[in-house]
Amino acid sequence: MTDPVAQERRWGARNYHPLPAVMSRGEGCWLWDTAGRRYLDMMSAYSAVSFGHGHPVLVAALTRQAQTLAVTSRAVHTDGLGPFLERLCTLTGMDRALPMNSGAEAVETALKAARKWGYRVKGIAEGRARILVAAGNFAGRTTTIISFSSEAQYRDGFGPYTPGFDAVPYGDAAALEAAITPETCAFVVEPVQGEAGIIVPPRGYLAAVREICTRRGVLLICDEVQTGLGRTGARLACDHEGVKPDGLTLGKALGGGLLPVSAFLASERLMAQFEPGDHGSTFGGNPLAAAVGLAALDLLEHEQLAARAAVSGAHLMARLRALAARQPAITSVRGLGLLVGVELDAARVDARTACEALLDEGVLSKDTHRTVLRFAPPLTITIEQIDQAVEALERALLRVVRH
Ligand SMILES: *Cc1c(COP(=O)(O)O)cnc(C)c1O
Repeated sequence: MTDPVAQERRWGARNYHPLPAVMSRGEGCWLWDTAGRRYLDMMSAYSAVSFGHGHPVLVAALTRQAQTLAVTSRAVHTDGLGPFLERLCTLTGMDRALPMNSGAEAVETALKAARKWGYRVKGIAEGRARILVAAGNFAGRTTTIISFSSEAQYRDGFGPYTPGFDAVPYGDAAALEAAITPETCAFVVEPVQGEAGIIVPPRGYLAAVREICTRRGVLLICDEVQTGLGRTGARLACDHEGVKPDGLTLGKALGGGLLPVSAFLASERLMAQFEPGDHGSTFGGNPLAAAVGLAALDLLEHEQLAARAAVSGAHLMARLRALAARQPAITSVRGLGLLVGVELDAARVDARTACEALLDEGVLSKDTHRTVLRFAPPLTITIEQIDQAVEALERALLRVVRH
């Protein structure tokens, strides 16, 4: 008898600490473990499974394309890439798109475009361009991206770091303005910080940031790898404040929960920085990714998932706030759309313990920063399923909270 967990422990790198469940099947908002036990997926692979597991329309697009043509590299044109790029741009209101695979690669692409724009257009002296980021950011795990992380564990032991980044407090437009110098080429920001613990900035923050960046000649790059594509109850989280960034990164849900698909989207003048040979990716924009990405964008519109996330997210937050009124271990509930954080009182329960207790109740969620439970279910979740999840959380907390 083989034991997959023992094999993982024996042969795998120990860079994750998985919850004690061995999943082997998924359908819609449900996951099943190897013992046949069913779980309601309230984290959807950090928003990558926004359409639910194995959405038949997406699986059909994947299967059809896999049987036709999957990977060619960009050495040649393919018939699926153009339609995917057009849909990406028309849906987001951006001028051009550059397809990559992971979210981190999309962010790296944005950083390269911003620096080159800084030199070629803004006239910053070679090698001097600086990029402002928000404290608490999460943009992936590459050596450059961790160079501007505020998380000690993401950085420790991985230096030397890529220079050229400065952090400003998140949600503070005045601090951004004060930090801008003539060498600043861009500000990179998540409209809602996901990994940091679902931090929603004050209303008007993003619009103020847009105004400052425009006035001071700084590019605004919104990292919507997690918040994009309906997650927050709007197509893009930027849409809540009518903000159009100069650069935009998408990922996670763009792959329909089936493949890694990401993109950097930009204004004409920003994307014009890339010439043939400047940047690329063997797999970026491959026919399989383009077919699934296009089908995912179509599905987002056809099923009006952004509007649905707004309604079901409001319901989830209302139910969680009602629970917080009865359960003092919950100190706050915050979020936007179906990206919701439940802050726990560390003196009464830590988030990992709560997460494991919730798993025992048949609900998958994820702790972040020791005190926050993160809920980001598929956007297709029903009101009844949301109610089940909140009832399970109530039972779980009753079991593990110290009084
Ligand atoms: C997850 C995430 C990334 C990185 O995506 P990967 O696919 O894990 O590389 C970048 N930015 C944000 C905001 C994310 O949430």
